[in-house]
Amino acid sequence: MNEQKQRLEQYYESMGISKPVFWFCSKIEKTLQERFAQVDEIAECNQMKVLKAMRDNRLSEACFAPTTGYGYNDVGRETLEKIYADVFGTEDALVRPQITCGTHALALALMSQLRPGDELLSPVGKPYDTLEEVIGIRPSNGSLAEYGISYRQVDLLADGSFDWENIEKALNEKTKLVTIQRSKGYASRPTFSVEQIGKLIAFIKERKPEVLCMVDNCYGEFVELTEPSQVGADLIVGSLIKNPGGGLAPIGGYLCGTRECIERAAYRLTSPGLGREVGATLGVTPALTQGLFLAPTVVKGALKGAMFAAAIYEALGFTVIPGSRASRHDIIQEVEFHDPDIMVAFCEGIQAAAPVDSFVKPEPWDMPGYDSKVIMAAGAFVSGSSIELSADGPMKEPYAVYFQGGLTWEHAKYGIMMSLQKIYETGKIHI
Ligand SMILES: *Cc1c(COP(=O)(O)O)cnc(C)c1O
Repeated sequence: MNEQKQRLEQYYESMGISKPVFWFCSKIEKTLQERFAQVDEIAECNQMKVLKAMRDNRLSEACFAPTTGYGYNDVGRETLEKIYADVFGTEDALVRPQITCGTHALALALMSQLRPGDELLSPVGKPYDTLEEVIGIRPSNGSLAEYGISYRQVDLLADGSFDWENIEKALNEKTKLVTIQRSKGYASRPTFSVEQIGKLIAFIKERKPEVLCMVDNCYGEFVELTEPSQVGADLIVGSLIKNPGGGLAPIGGYLCGTRECIERAAYRLTSPGLGREVGATLGVTPALTQGLFLAPTVVKGALKGAMFAAAIYEALGFTVIPGSRASRHDIIQEVEFHDPDIMVAFCEGIQAAAPVDSFVKPEPWDMPGYDSKVIMAAGAFVSGSSIELSADGPMKEPYAVYFQGGLTWEHAKYGIMMSLQKIYETGKIHI
């Protein structure tokens, strides 16, 4: 054993990791070197993509000056939006701290494109939980349903693939917008690759060329070499306290898409007549911009953490989605425990490993927008940020934890080791 390895073992021991857990995890890590090398290459490409967009758009120190009040002529905001458009290969982008979260960004996208009498179609099954209230699947104040916008859904087939026949049937004269969620969210289905999303969009556009295709891109940014906007999506949407904020963005959401889609969204975000011209940035532009710069490497660390977790819990006999050998299209790792105690222990480990609030014990609670109790472990610099190491899941069968993030691979690794340590201490597993 070399000196570093010895020092590492001592460190981990002083930080609560027992010898059996340390050695088990070291053994698993060794099996992942080839996959990690692939992740490194993708990050390198995406880093160049982001850097090129910053250079091409002449990002300068003047862009970092804060604006207040109406925020007219905010050069930093305008430059960042051009950079986003270039990175995601779209005509235009709206990137704003006034977009409060991912759900808000998605609601903005839907409400700006759809008009009374239009129909929204999800060809990939049930959308993310919080969107049920936006759409009106669960009745809610101000939902699309209240504005006379109908909704149709085509579930995935049992094997997680698209139901082409019923998607074709569901398209009708009212269909205005098709929403495609890239990441599985709180569902046990596969996450779609950009290639699969491209095929789905092509199928839809062949049958109804004027329909708008929107992709909920949350958790997918920079995982692959291309983004859904480069395979036909008219609009992609996401949160800045996930992948593209690189852990530094303290708030915000983005929409990237065609000129018309972004214009409609801007008039909805602020006001008809004002659109994108207003919206002071209050000094957050440096964090949003630097966060985007770091995002490809931050996503790389999170991806390695997800692969490490998959390999560990798969080796222990739990169902993990995706599997440790499967190709990856987002940073989420699901582990099904079928046992509330193990699920809670996992979350306790993630929490104990956090840089912030490590002394807190996570407990299940009734979170707004969700229909069962949820347990969350997070000790983040940015409240609720899930590009930072975090785990959560609804307290119901299959007692699945959704694990994501880690601003560095080293921290993600320690978090997962700590989760295993806490489960090991319950006596319910043997390693
Ligand atoms: C996180 C997420 C959302 C909602 O974002 P919030 O910031 O939590 O409101 C929507 N869709 C998917 C797939 C997500 O992962």
